[in-house]
Amino acid sequence: MTLLRHTPAGEIKEREALVINPAKTCQPIGAMYASLGIHGALPHSHGSQGCCSYHRSTLTRHYKDPVMASTSSFTEGSAVFGGQANLLTAIQTIFSVYDPKVIAIHTTCLSETIGDDMVQIRKKAFDDGKVPDGKLIIYGNTPSYVGTHVTGYANMVKGIVRDLVKASETKGEHLAVIPGWVEPCDMREIKRYLNVLGVPFVMFPDTDGVFDAPMTGKHVFYPKGGAKVEDIATAGAAKASLCLGRVATALGSEELSKTFGVEGDVVDLPIGLAATDRMIESLIKTYGLTVAESINDERGKLVDLLSDMEQYLWGKKVAIFGDPDQLIPLTEFLKTMGMDVRHIVTGTEGNYIRDRLTEINPTANLKIGGDMFLLHQWMKNEPVDLLIGNTYGKYMARDEDVPFLRFGFPILDRQGHQHFPTVGYMGGIRLVEQILNLLMDRIDRDVEEHKMELQM
Ligand code: SF4
Repeated sequence: MTLLRHTPAGEIKEREALVINPAKTCQPIGAMYASLGIHGALPHSHGSQGCCSYHRSTLTRHYKDPVMASTSSFTEGSAVFGGQANLLTAIQTIFSVYDPKVIAIHTTCLSETIGDDMVQIRKKAFDDGKVPDGKLIIYGNTPSYVGTHVTGYANMVKGIVRDLVKASETKGEHLAVIPGWVEPCDMREIKRYLNVLGVPFVMFPDTDGVFDAPMTGKHVFYPKGGAKVEDIATAGAAKASLCLGRVATALGSEELSKTFGVEGDVVDLPIGLAATDRMIESLIKTYGLTVAESINDERGKLVDLLSDMEQYLWGKKVAIFGDPDQLIPLTEFLKTMGMDVRHIVTGTEGNYIRDRLTEINPTANLKIGGDMFLLHQWMKNEPVDLLIGNTYGKYMARDEDVPFLRFGFPILDRQGHQHFPTVGYMGGIRLVEQILNLLMDRIDRDVEEHKMELQM
């Protein structure tokens, strides 16, 4: 905090080798989140205990719920001789003690550097009789010296498709839906849309009922939520696929297409008016459906709110940082609100991200694979009215005295993100409400007393 006060303004020096306050975290956290979207799955971190503790605790701090996961518990010996022996022992112990349906292994920096071969070790586990009948092992390669938590989610989603989907000669009528990295409530909201629109579907991963499971007074090791293995298997017989958020789902979409012949659309996460429209248009294209009146009404309510409150939103300057699948539709939505997005930083890199954000908002300062130090410098040079990002932005917001909307991952100091969706039209209303509250509270705080308005 104190150090942030020394963030220099003025001329910004290019940095290549130094990252200060990265706008990202490590791959296995995303892999762990995706794994927990399978009912009865136990994520397994193939690396040291410290890695696993970090991944679990980050999810726990975001959700305020315990996160079950196991680890290969690497020691110096594993680093020298490889982690196969530890993993084989772990697989046997996990199935006999914790009885998961699936062990979802993700690698770590160390096991990837050693070069542990997940295909070979998994085969050996089956050959050596360490895997009981009917039990499954899937894996994702998640070396964290490349990519981010979003890449880790994408890599595990690819593993889920590759290892759990079954090929089918005949195709059904259902849709295989891969949501990007969104909150459990967002997954529930996407399912609500599909149900209201009458689209038969299988969705995975699905953390609805996993990270927001109710308190019953009874400890349940595997919450009742999550996509069932037998349902995921049917994705190979799907009529089409719908993947939401290209960065987190493109690998899964490619695997569905290449290995199982299931083609479909990859569209933006349905955050905001236009992106939600595009998700619905994709469903119309695939199913020829008529949009339910209740959904049209929700859209109309969002449009009504935007037009009613335009004077408070129009021209307000915004800085945002976070994950690209969120930032792309969010930037678009902020522009729909009439806001002026001045600075954008994503921790995850990629030309696609740069192209989309440049196309949506060509005039903003944009850094792909950037850090929050740079964003803070930009905010000092060109102040904004609102900062949007995960909890780590609170120090910049305080330092610059700017209203701050917590959005994205992780949110460590507020509640609600796991319960109240920000996708779809109603999610758009929630976002507008949150932004308006921040801006109006600011007006009420700063305005001269004689100009204080009761009616806003
Ligand atoms: S960055 Fe690598 S070493 Fe660090 S916690 Fe993540 S996987 Fe483990």
